[in-house]
Amino acid sequence: MKRIGVLTSGGDTPGMNACIRSVFKTGTDLGMQVMGVYHGYKGLIEGRVDYITHDMVENKMHKGGTVLRTARSSAFLTEEGMQKAVSVLNAYDIEGLVVIGGDGSFRGAAQLSEKYGVNVIGIPGTIDNDMGYTDFTIGFDTAINNVMNEIYKIRDTMRAHDRVGVIEVMGRLCGDIALWAGVGGAADLILVPERPMPWDEATNILVANKLRGKLTSIVLIAEGAGSAEDFCEYVRAHSDVEIKATVLGYIQRGGNPSAFDRVLAAKLGQRAVELLADGQSGFAVGIKHNDIINVPLLDAVKVNDTFDDKLYDLNTIMAKF
Ligand code: ATP
Repeated sequence: MKRIGVLTSGGDTPGMNACIRSVFKTGTDLGMQVMGVYHGYKGLIEGRVDYITHDMVENKMHKGGTVLRTARSSAFLTEEGMQKAVSVLNAYDIEGLVVIGGDGSFRGAAQLSEKYGVNVIGIPGTIDNDMGYTDFTIGFDTAINNVMNEIYKIRDTMRAHDRVGVIEVMGRLCGDIALWAGVGGAADLILVPERPMPWDEATNILVANKLRGKLTSIVLIAEGAGSAEDFCEYVRAHSDVEIKATVLGYIQRGGNPSAFDRVLAAKLGQRAVELLADGQSGFAVGIKHNDIINVPLLDAVKVNDTFDDKLYDLNTIMAKF
């Protein structure tokens, strides 16, 4: 394979630049030309393709966001859009494509592979960690560290007023960000979709904390379990607990990637390029029990996400005292 392309798609995630760098370097090492596609599938349809340069990746690998930009594309969901994307790949003689993105981007990649015979490899890039075939996605580690650092700032001010702080975090239907950041940040209560807890029960826990002299509690709520503001309103209506909401929003997604995410990005980028060089395609790469793996894209998008119940129960025990 002489020339490959790489694009980032869906939500941006810290570590995407480190992954682009890895694809560029390992591809170059194997004698390939590496082209960047700007703005994900949208840019692919519109022909926004250019060579990746050494300078572009060297100066940016430590930064969040993505030098190739990212986008969502409704045009790509149509037959016409996908055909255009394929014709652009052919026009640029791009023989293999690396797609860095979440499960939606993988579904698109699987279609390119299955329907149009495009050589494509998917690399999991999303802060949500909601892809079941891999233990970790690029960006998740940075996101939970971002959240954990904010927890301590919010705890300082809540403690000064003897208040409860509720922090809403991202994750869509996945509670991993709330769980991992909550354990790392010593949360007193974690509300996640995977372990639904009625809000009257959650309120009772906060009331009991107050009665035993624990005047400040930190609650982490995953967006898939409800909104922080709604939860606070519920607690105020049903108790005398003083409670304030914070929605962290895009703070979680920005900033320099952690060492873990950079290393993961490097390893996954390398495996993706090696697969293409070996004439293999239609795979998603990932990490399982610390091993770099590849599974068929179609299987990867079907695997249900798993939740670490043991870790959740551990936090419940530690929050008791
Ligand atoms: P994140 O988890 O950060 O949101 P994502 O990759 O899941 O990332 P999506 O918006 O779901 O983000 O998908 C990105 C793009 O992939 C979409 O804009 C669309 O162009 C394409 N895509 C999504 N789902 C499909 C599908 N079922 N078939 C073909 N293409 C798809």
